Amino acid sequence: MAQSILPAVRDVTALRDAVRAWRKAGLRVGLVPTMGALHEGHLSLVRAAKERCDRVVASLFVNPRQFAPHEDFERYPRDEGGDSQMLAGAGCDLLFAPERGVMYPEGFATSVIVADVSVPLEGDFRPHFFGGVATVVTKLLLQCLPDVALFGEKDYQQLLVIKKLARDLDIPVEILGCPTVREHDGLAMSSRNAYLSEDERRIAGRLNLILHDAIKAVRHGAPIADAEAEASRHLTAAGFTVVDYVAIRHAETLAPVSDASSARILAAAWLGKTRLIDNMAV
Ligand code: AMP
Repeated sequence: MAQSILPAVRDVTALRDAVRAWRKAGLRVGLVPTMGALHEGHLSLVRAAKERCDRVVASLFVNPRQFAPHEDFERYPRDEGGDSQMLAGAGCDLLFAPERGVMYPEGFATSVIVADVSVPLEGDFRPHFFGGVATVVTKLLLQCLPDVALFGEKDYQQLLVIKKLARDLDIPVEILGCPTVREHDGLAMSSRNAYLSEDERRIAGRLNLILHDAIKAVRHGAPIADAEAEASRHLTAAGFTVVDYVAIRHAETLAPVSDASSARILAAAWLGKTRLIDNMAV
């Protein structure tokens, strides 16, 4: 049976009208923000939203403000038709797909900057990134005003940044993190995996295994700095071209830790022109 095509709105007024009508009817609303090129990871968020809410909105917006000029904004995969089908199949009720001018009209001049958790790791290597993410997510939360918004632990530092901005700005939306969905070999699903050559895809599957080994080493008493350095060496030996970081940090603050309780391991590494990130609880 053919899947129904999802209703779509493209401006904030239409989005607010739809959400307001649902809430007036006593329905609970969930929001799943995405940049499209959807995969099972995104759909798991839609399903988790549907379990907790009566109606689910997914947003689709490739946010130019979170890409640096040298990054992959232009070649980022885009397929609204395919995404819409997948969302409908997962139980999504409404697609919010604004044009750039709706999100950033002429004269747009405001940025949301979250200190602390934005600063290390991704913040070191992509200094523009969290400002772009925090600004667009703040806008999406305020445009939609859902009961709950769902984000993947795949982007763990991003999840911490979003929890912090919602708390700091008194945005009345529950922020819920959901587990990372992985391929058969453990590679975290990502829209950017589509960039990988066959060879790179094989090597990519080593990232999660090397992080698992580092966790094991720490649990067996290896010093944290040694486990980080060893994992970094293994990534290079496996064929990763550049390792941005492998870091074992406090799971809430991302501050360096001296023991593994409440820790998270996070990593970012390049395969040619593709940058992969992953993380796990220690
Ligand atoms: P993106 O379209 O990459 O901006 O991601 C949109 C949302 O999907 C974010 O909350 C991501 O953390 C989440 N996400 C991306 N990949 C995965 C995955 N493999 N498992 C779970 N959530 C994911």
